[in-house]
Amino acid sequence: MSKHAITDQESAVAAMVAKNKWGTFFGVSQKTLDNVWNALSNKDGNSIAYVTMEIGADLDVFNPVKKHLEELQITGSTNHVFNHFTKRFLHGPEKIPNYGGGLGILAGDTLKSLAEMKMPVVAVSLLYRKGYFSQLVDATIGQISTATDWSPENTPTLYHLRDPHNPEIPLQIEIPFFDRYGAVSLAYAQLWLKLEISHNLDYFVPEILLDYSIPSSPDWVQNAATHLYESRSNDAKIIQRRLLGAGVIPAIHALGFTSKVIHLNEQHGVVAILHMIAEALKEKFGDNYQHTASDEDIIQIADQVAQQVVYTIHTPVKAGHDRFEKTLFSEFSHTFCQRVLHLLAQDEEAQHMYNFTSFAMRVNRATNSVSRLHKEVTQLQFPQFASKISAITNGVHHLTWISDNRAKLYDRFSEFNNWQDDPLVFSKAGNLVDQKKFRAYFSEAWQQDTNILINYINTMLDRHRTKMHETWIDPPNFLSLCNEKDRTLQKDVFNIGFARRFSTYKRANLIFDDLDKLSTIITEANQPINFIFAGKAHPADEPGKEVIRNILSIQEELYTKTRGLAKLVFIPGYDMTIAKMMTSGVHAWLNSPKRPLEASGTSGMKSAMNGVPNISTLDGWWAEGYHDGLTGWKFGIETDIENACLSESKSQLFYKEDADAFYKLLPSILHMFYDPEAHEQYIDRCINNISLNIPIFNTHRMGAEYAQRYQVNLPKATEKHQKKLRAAYGSDEF
Ligand SMILES: *Cc1c(COP(=O)(O)O)cnc(C)c1O
Repeated sequence: MSKHAITDQESAVAAMVAKNKWGTFFGVSQKTLDNVWNALSNKDGNSIAYVTMEIGADLDVFNPVKKHLEELQITGSTNHVFNHFTKRFLHGPEKIPNYGGGLGILAGDTLKSLAEMKMPVVAVSLLYRKGYFSQLVDATIGQISTATDWSPENTPTLYHLRDPHNPEIPLQIEIPFFDRYGAVSLAYAQLWLKLEISHNLDYFVPEILLDYSIPSSPDWVQNAATHLYESRSNDAKIIQRRLLGAGVIPAIHALGFTSKVIHLNEQHGVVAILHMIAEALKEKFGDNYQHTASDEDIIQIADQVAQQVVYTIHTPVKAGHDRFEKTLFSEFSHTFCQRVLHLLAQDEEAQHMYNFTSFAMRVNRATNSVSRLHKEVTQLQFPQFASKISAITNGVHHLTWISDNRAKLYDRFSEFNNWQDDPLVFSKAGNLVDQKKFRAYFSEAWQQDTNILINYINTMLDRHRTKMHETWIDPPNFLSLCNEKDRTLQKDVFNIGFARRFSTYKRANLIFDDLDKLSTIITEANQPINFIFAGKAHPADEPGKEVIRNILSIQEELYTKTRGLAKLVFIPGYDMTIAKMMTSGVHAWLNSPKRPLEASGTSGMKSAMNGVPNISTLDGWWAEGYHDGLTGWKFGIETDIENACLSESKSQLFYKEDADAFYKLLPSILHMFYDPEAHEQYIDRCINNISLNIPIFNTHRMGAEYAQRYQVNLPKATEKHQKKLRAAYGSDEF
C-alpha cells in the first residue's frame, strides 16, 4: 500500500467516525453528527418528530456508506473502530424487516429525502425483534407465514444507544402508561438509533426505535412488541399502538431533543397526542389535573396541542383505521384517559367504540391526504374536517428506486447533471426523446434490468424444482414442474409486473377474471407474455390469502389455454429488493385497485423512475401521473368521487367491468410492444415517464411540500432548494 493511500485512509477514518455520549456512529463526520444533534436540541424546538409504526429502508437497495467505502476501495484499517464498522458495512446483514408494506417504505423514502434536504427531523418507531412475517408459498396451501429472525446487533446503521452516565450499559428509558384505577404503570425500553444518511454523507435523519422486548418490561408489553402488526388479539393490537404513542415524547427527551411539531404518519401513534394533552393539562392545573380540569378545559387544551400536530391519512379503507371496543380499553386504561377519548375519539357509527382516526382528525393543525383524488375521498368521508384536509401527493426516494443500470444511463447524459440532488433535471428528458443515442442506451439499460429479473426467476424456478423433495413445500409455480424448455422464461418476452400487499380492494387477480377471454386475446395476437406477480397478505387476512391461492391455481390453465404463450409466475417473499428488481425489469407495471380505494400507491412511481409505463385503473397517484396517455395506459370505471362506491364487499368490487376494460386495451399494448415500428411509441411513453413523472413523484418534492405544513424555520439554502421543488408541482393546487 502506498503512503498516499494510508493518508487517504486516515482522513477517511476522521471523516466517518463520530461519537457522543450516546454512542459511536459510522458514516458521518463529527461535525455532521454535532450539527444534526444541535439542530434537534434547539431550545426553541425548531424540529419535527416523525411518528410511524413501520420504516422500510433495507440496506441492499440504498446504502450510501457502503457505496462510499467501495468507491474508496477501503476494505479494512489499522484503526480498530474503523475496521469494525467497515467489516459490518461491507459484509453485515442488509435487511431490516421492520416494515409490512407501502406505509413503511414511504416512511423510509421520506426520511431519506428529508436527510438529503437537511431537514431537522427525528423519526420515532418501534423495533420488532421478530420483524414482520416471512412468506413461504406452497402450491396448494398458498401463503405460509413464518417468523422472521434478524439481529439488530449485527446490522450496519443500527446503534444500540448507551447510557450517558455509564457507557458500559444500554440506555434504558421509563415509559409511563396510564393504567386502570388511576395508577400509572411503567414499561421500559432500550433505544436503537438508525441513521438515514444523505448520499454524500453530509447529513442524516436519526430514527429512534423503541425496543420493549427487554426483561425489565412487563410480559404483556414484551408480548405485544415482538411482531409488527401483531394481530393475535385486539388486546395486543391496542397495546402495540400505545407502545408507540406513549414512547414518543420520553424517547426524544432522553436524547435531549426538543421537537415540538409531531407528524403522525397514519393514526397508529395518536396516543402520543393523549400524552401531550395530559402533559399540557398538568402544566396548567398542577398534579391534580385529572380531577380539576373540566371537559371544556380538556377540549381547549386539545385545540392548543393540535397546533403542534400534522397528520397524514393514508387510506379510505376501513381496515386501515384503528377502532377499539371501549370495554377493551377500560381493561387497562386510566379513567382520565377514557375521558379524553370520550371527548375526542368517539366513533360516529358505533357508540361502543373509540376511533383513533377520528381522534387524529380532530386534534391536528393540518390533515394531509396522499393524492389529489384521495383528498376528495377524505373530504367526503370526514365532511366536518373538510376545510383542513389538503393533498400532498406521495413520492418515492429516487436514489433508492432508480436501478444501477438506469443510474448509469442517467449519468451519461449531461442534461441530467446533478440528478441525485435535483430530480427536476429529469424534465429535460423531453429534449432527448428524439435522440437516437438516448433511445438506444435507454433500451440497453432496460434490457440489462430485464435480464437480471428473468435470471432471478429462472434460477428460482429451478431451485424450487430441485428442492422439492427436501421440503414439504410444493413449488408455488406450476412452471417448476415443467421441462427445462417450457420452464425457462425468455428475455425478449413482454413482461407485465404486479406486486403489492394482497388486500382485496387491490384485486390482484382482476385480469384473470375471465381466463377464456384473456387466453383468446393472447392466442389471437400470437405473442408470448409473462405475468410476474409477488406480494404478501397480512397473516390474518383470509380473503387476501385466498387471492394468492387463486393466482397459483390458474397458472396451468392459463398456460394450456394459451398454448404456452402466457406464463404466470409468483415470486414469494416480496420485499424491497424484489420490488426494485421488478419495477425496473418489467415492461409494464400493472395496478388494478378498485377506484377510489387506492389512496396513492407507490410501486407504480418506482417503475416510472426507471421509465417503465404503468397500466392502471385511474386511481391514486395515477390520476396525476397518467398525463392523458403520454406515460402509459388507464382502464376501468371512472365514476366521479361523489358517486363512487367505497364498499369492499365481493359483489361490489366490479371485477367483470374492469377486467373487460383491461381486455379491450391489451391487444393494442401487445401490438405496440412487439411491432418494430409501433415499438417506438412504446419507447416514447417510457421517456415521457422520465420527463413528466420523475420530477413530480419523488419524496424530495413531497418533503418540500410537507416542510411548509411543519412551519419550522429552515436554513436559507434548504429553503431555497425547497421553494424550487414546490414551484414544480403543487399537489394541493388544482
Ligand atoms: C413499494 C412497495 C410497496 C407498496 O406498493 P404499493 O404500490 O403502494 O401498494 C409494498 N411493498 C414493498 C416491498 C414495496 O417495495
